[in-house]
Amino acid sequence: MSVLIFAELDEGKLRKSSQEAIFYGAKVAEQLGTSATAIVIGQADESELATAGRFGATNVLHASDAKLNEPNGMAYATVVAAAAQQEGTKVIVLAKSSLADAMAARLVGKLRAGLAANVVELPDLSNGFRVKRSIYTGKAFAFTDLTADVKILAIKKNTITVEESDATASVDTFSPALNDSDFGIAVKSTDKATGDVLLPEADFVVSAGRGLKGPENWGIVEGLAKALHAATACSKPVSDLDWRPHSEHVGQTGLKISPNLYIACGISGAIQHLAGVNSSKVIVVINKDPEAPFFKSADYGIVGDVFDVLPRLTKAVQAL
Ligand code: FAD
Repeated sequence: MSVLIFAELDEGKLRKSSQEAIFYGAKVAEQLGTSATAIVIGQADESELATAGRFGATNVLHASDAKLNEPNGMAYATVVAAAAQQEGTKVIVLAKSSLADAMAARLVGKLRAGLAANVVELPDLSNGFRVKRSIYTGKAFAFTDLTADVKILAIKKNTITVEESDATASVDTFSPALNDSDFGIAVKSTDKATGDVLLPEADFVVSAGRGLKGPENWGIVEGLAKALHAATACSKPVSDLDWRPHSEHVGQTGLKISPNLYIACGISGAIQHLAGVNSSKVIVVINKDPEAPFFKSADYGIVGDVFDVLPRLTKAVQAL
């Protein structure tokens, strides 16, 4: 029996959130006195897969069937369930993402498992298997006792602090039987988000709202993002107006992110926007209206005009 971690790839590299999941899974394995195995699906070099060892996995199962190149929650769930059955796994760990969401419910069905989502700490095993979860978009915590034989933990991104060692993991090919019914959903294409830094994974995010007045003004947002090596994001109206791609929209109806630093420029701070960003570790708000609701959630606030503040902030960061 080992703890099994689903580790997601981004262009052949382990995602930061996968590193967090592996580290977390390895700690759970330690608690249970067992080892941690990662399951990785898609094309990746063996040397990259072996780096899973740095985060605590002893072994990697690699499913690289060409049919699995596109992220397909249905087929991926079959692969992970087969790996869990092969390994006799009782605990599966994955990092919350849209792919993980698409897989998790299917895994529950296939393995008759119990699922806890948005897990933020190691389980408490002193009296059963109790996990702490973030609920109500980060406003509260719930403690959930998982009693099913197989337990699935979907961890919240950027809540686990990873420590690395110089260990490497062994890598084995994994080729479970797949049939047509596993591809009842066909992924026709995937759109890669724009920008150098992937928004869901970003440590720093510069986000802007309707206060920017129009898409032609985004140069100042991108300028600060580039200087900070940050991803760009936006409020819903901005993506609705096609000023920015939908992949940048954060909030209740968009991406939920928890970067170390979130800089909100010309965004009012409506509750639906906050729902996607209020787990950020540090929030900086730039708004010309001192009464803007966002200031109530800010760690640092700048009352000022974005067209004045942003270029000056960018210059200051570049000078560091
Ligand atoms: P505005 O509300 O127009 O605010 C613009 C802000 O910019 C103001 O505070 C203004 O003072 C400031 N400003 C203007 N000019 C300047 C300047 N020159 N310098 C500095 N500051 C300036 N919204 C989301 O973002 N994400 C969601 O997921 C989401 N989901 C929703 C779901 C539902 C069901 C509903 C009903 C709404 C949802 N909304 C969502 C919309 C949300 O309620 C707000 O309308 C939206 O977040 C406002 O966007 P904004 O702050 O960019 O624009």
